[in-house]
Amino acid sequence: MDSYFCEQHQTKWFKTGKMKTYAHPVKGANGETTGWCNMPDDAVPTVVKEAVKQGAVIVEEKMTKEDWDAKDQRTRKSIERQKALEIANEYVKNKIIAGKELTYDDVLKVADHFYDWINK
Ligand SMILES: [Zn+2]
Repeated sequence: MDSYFCEQHQTKWFKTGKMKTYAHPVKGANGETTGWCNMPDDAVPTVVKEAVKQGAVIVEEKMTKEDWDAKDQRTRKSIERQKALEIANEYVKNKIIAGKELTYDDVLKVADHFYDWINK
């Protein structure tokens, strides 16, 4: 079964960069958009939620250690770290949804990659 399929409206929830959650537009009789149907949180597969949660904890620990000697840049680093983590989580979530099996090490590598990129 497709977890991203809305049974009520018989269509798929999707998510673009600007959207906070998965959703799909609800059309009226004339085909105009009358509103949005948001995907309920419990429709997200548990494995995705768990991977994102675990990945976040591990990435946070590792990057805190790396930044230990850069206290003066703490605020900036913290924002960059947070951003890298968000991007990594989003990336990993989409990979898992696409059927990829990823380990926590993969999450770390992705976060490291984005972190380096932000600091270029
Ligand atoms: Zn719906």
